[in-house]
Order: sequence, then C-alpha cells, then structure tokens
Amino acid sequence: MADEAIHDHCGIVGIFDPTNQLDVPRYLVIAMTALQHRGQESAGVALLLPGTGEIVPKTGMGRVRDVFPQGTDDLPKTCCGIGHVRYSTTGSSCVENAAPFVLRPGRKMIDDAVAIAHNGNVVNASELRAEITDIAFQSDTDSEVIAALLLRAGGESFAHRLRQAAHRLRGAYSLVLLAEGKLYGLRDPYGMRPLSLGRLGDGWILASETCAFDRVGATFVRELAPGELVTIDEQGCRTETFLRRARRGLCVFEFVYFSDATSVLDGRNVYQVREELGRQLAREYPAEADMVVPVPLTAIPMALGYAEQTGLAFAEPVIASRYADRSFIKPDQRLRRLEIDLKFNIVQSKIEGKRIVLVEDSIVRGNTLQILIKALRRKGASEVHMRVAAPPIKHPCYFGIDIPDEDELIASHRSVDAVAQYIGADSLGYLSLAGLGRATGGGAGDTDHAAEGILRHRFCFGCMDERGYPFPVREDANRLPSDVR
Ligand code: SF4
Repeated sequence: MADEAIHDHCGIVGIFDPTNQLDVPRYLVIAMTALQHRGQESAGVALLLPGTGEIVPKTGMGRVRDVFPQGTDDLPKTCCGIGHVRYSTTGSSCVENAAPFVLRPGRKMIDDAVAIAHNGNVVNASELRAEITDIAFQSDTDSEVIAALLLRAGGESFAHRLRQAAHRLRGAYSLVLLAEGKLYGLRDPYGMRPLSLGRLGDGWILASETCAFDRVGATFVRELAPGELVTIDEQGCRTETFLRRARRGLCVFEFVYFSDATSVLDGRNVYQVREELGRQLAREYPAEADMVVPVPLTAIPMALGYAEQTGLAFAEPVIASRYADRSFIKPDQRLRRLEIDLKFNIVQSKIEGKRIVLVEDSIVRGNTLQILIKALRRKGASEVHMRVAAPPIKHPCYFGIDIPDEDELIASHRSVDAVAQYIGADSLGYLSLAGLGRATGGGAGDTDHAAEGILRHRFCFGCMDERGYPFPVREDANRLPSDVR
C-alpha cells in the first residue's frame, strides 16, 4: 500500500569461495534479487580481482535486473565480492550514492582498495563528517564516513582498523566489506539490522536475510551476534566480538513488515511470528464478524493467525493488482483518489452483506485504508472491523527507516477511536506492546510486564514507544540521513 508503506533501506550480501569453482558475480546478483524487497532504487556489486587487491564495482539506478540487464557475463571472474540493494530517501536518490562504496588505494593507511556495503543508519554520521576536515567527501553516504574513519584509524591490520572505526559509530549498521583479499562482516553492538552467515559449497556467504541463502542453495549457519566481526579468507571464517551491550535492539519491524516471510530472524521464522502476531491480536481484540480479510500482502499470515484463533473464515476478497502502474495516475487528482481501485480488485460477491475483520500489519498515515474501507462498503460489506498486528506507530525512526514526520503519523496525535473514525472502521484494535513481546518472544512472558520486558531486552520498538529505542537518541540526530544503507 504505497502511501502506507514504510521502507527499510538496504540489503547486503557477500560471498567468498576459496575453491574458485563458483561464478561469484552470478551468485551475488541472484542473492540480491532475493533481497530486492529491502531496496529497489539502486543496486550494485564490488568484486575483488584475484591477486591484485583491486576492486571492480558496478552500480546503477533501479532494480537488480535494471542494473544487470545482460546478466553477469561481462563481470570479472573472482572468488570474492559483495552486493547491495538500496532504498533511498528523497533527495539522495542518485547514482553517486549507489553502493557498494569503493575506497581507492593510495590514501593514507590503506594499501589496497576497500569496498563497503551498509544496511542501517549511523546517527552521529553528521558529527563525524564535520570532524573529518582533511578528506574531501565524494558522496553523502554513511558508507563514506565509515571509509573515512577507516583511513584515519591506526592499527596493524584491517580488522583492527575496522574495530577502531566501529567504536566511533552510533546507530544501526550491518556491514559487509572487501579488503586485503578478505571478506568481512560486522553487526552493530545492538544488532539493529540483521546479518546472517551461511555456507555456500566450500565457501561462505553473508546476507541481510536467510531468504538469500535459499535462493542460491546455501546452508544457514547462524546469525551474527550483536557486536560481532567475522573475517573470511582461504583459512576459513574467524570471529570476534568487538563490542558488547547489556541489551539487544533488533528492529522489531523486521518481523512485522520488512523481512521476507521465509527468513529466519533472532532464531525464529518470520512467517510463523507473523501468524503468532495475528493469533495474539485475536486474543486481545476478537470481533463479531463473518470473515477475516488480510490487506495484501504482508498481512496474510497475520490474518491467517487471527482466523485460526477465532475460528472465523479466512478469505481474500481484496486482491492486489499485479500490473497496476502508478506512473499513469499521478497527475490526475480524481484518478489518484481512485488508485485503490487500480491497485486492488474486490470480489463483490464474497463480501456483500458480510461483517469483515480487516487485518493489517501497521497503519502509517491511514489514507489508503480509508479509501479501501470505503471501497469495501461500496461493494456491500455491512461492517468493517480494523485489526492491526502491531502497536500504533507514533514516533520517528532514527535508524534508517523511512517513517513520516510525527504530524503525518495518524496515531501520533489521535486516540484509537479518532483513528477508527478517520479511516471509517466500525472498530479498531491495535496489538499491545505486551502482545508484540509475546509473539516475537515465542510466547514467553507470563505477565504483561514480563512480555514487555522481552521487547525491552531484545528489540528496538522506539517508533511505538519512546522508551523502546535501544539507547537515547537526540532530536538533532540525522534521522533520515542522506546515506542509506
Ligand atoms: S524506531 Fe521503529 S522502525 Fe526504527 S529501528 Fe526501531 S523499531 Fe525499527
């Protein structure tokens, strides 16, 4: 739902194949297509040229298939490379910011080239950038700030410099890097963005989500721990923890919305957690109704869980139109209002005279839901009860997720009843924080206090409750940074 969507900013992948048997560029690009839901605005790879230390990048605007229309036959053969798909905020959508970012050799301490692919948002990037006056920045990305910190860091090895640089960063960052013939993977001390390790033949793969492993036939090994650095080369995969924090802070929206349903996060399958979110929602907010209807597409497992818990029928009378094209609609005000009819088709005969529980993963502005509920009534639904499988979004995200300003967030300054009235629902129920804790924590948490404690110790949920940020964030932090990740 376009005006409802909140966006993550990137997907990253890295492959090291010591046997030289795999067509690494091809595997990278295939893995990137599995991560395409994390970013569609630009894509790119950086490939290490064997024996030279040289790194060859290829980046461009658009989806993976736009950047590599002819496949990967024109790319150099290599045993090691990284890839990146990116979603950008307004104003930073340009090819200069397309990643991976490559730092050329010959600058200060760096003898070989370095390539960086980043998912997350460094909240003190502006401060760090202002502090570094002896380097002319070429882009407005956090990746270049990290590269600049690497240039300035002392230490006998690249891993040492990487640890030094990481100590200066505040915020969310999962990184894959190429340097000195090695592949590095690193996750911030709170583990705010996901990063997993897998085996690919006799080699290794790092990726934002395990769905990328499935696409290339890799075997999931484990998720990187918060604050973990792995170094991969011919000798194998070595690990060290460079920073520890008392709590963790995985973005809980990875479960609610961002991640692919097939991925495993925090040891749990995303689809199953979404089903449990729906069951928990049903326990908290049952409804007298005839059927449970998901808002396509992420809300399907949540609606299934809701239907299972209540015993109500599950139906999909709202069908996403696969080939709706917004570009033809934009200039025409009337067509813009009708866009819902172009994006979704409604099976009238299924809903005439029926009481519907409409299940959605989150409400951002509420405008699209308002139009959808009107359309359902127009097609004959007698009642529409809205159920949302996450608590209300009320606050900004400082960690690279594109959430609108508070005054645009429908729940920020409205009561639940006022939101129901605005979207035109007969009733509205949001999942509680405790319910979110129970569902994401595998049902643990006997009391609401204990269930909220699960959230507080394991996840970031700051956009739903200001106490839910994993560390204090300042108003002047670069909330929607130009970098993206
Ligand atoms: S503030 Fe919200 S969207 Fe941002 S990282 Fe935390 S949970 Fe995720």
